[in-house]
Amino acid sequence: MSEDLPIIGKDALGRVIKDWSKKPWWGIDRKKIEWYPKINYDKCIGCGLCFITCANRVVFDWDKEKKKPVVARPYNCVVACTTCKKLCPVDALEFPDREYIQKIIKENKLLAKAKEILKNHNLI
Ligand code: SF4
Ligand code: SF4
Repeated sequence: MSEDLPIIGKDALGRVIKDWSKKPWWGIDRKKIEWYPKINYDKCIGCGLCFITCANRVVFDWDKEKKKPVVARPYNCVVACTTCKKLCPVDALEFPDREYIQKIIKENKLLAKAKEILKNHNLI
């Protein structure tokens, strides 16, 4: 599926960027889900860990003047991922809380959908 996604450029490290916002999440338009990091620049020390680590989705890019990351492609972020937040040494990255994603799960009946998939594969 990711092979079908359009390539939209390269980041400051020369890495290829795909437009993951085109890929629905559990059938939901990715752009309707407000899940992505926000950078608290009062805390960020510009270490680069978030930018360098998010290598597949390439959510961040790099502001060469300010020497800080920017959230350049928010809808490329993996829904419910918080890897960059966990890596950040100064806790400068913020995400929606757990309740936000649990509400989406409930509203879109994702538990029933998951059960169906498991059943169809004779896993339950
Ligand atoms: S949460 Fe995951 S996918 Fe999203 S920006 Fe951070 S590392 Fe990348
Ligand atoms: S990991 Fe944290 S401190 Fe380092 S660049 Fe990213 S937001 Fe800034």
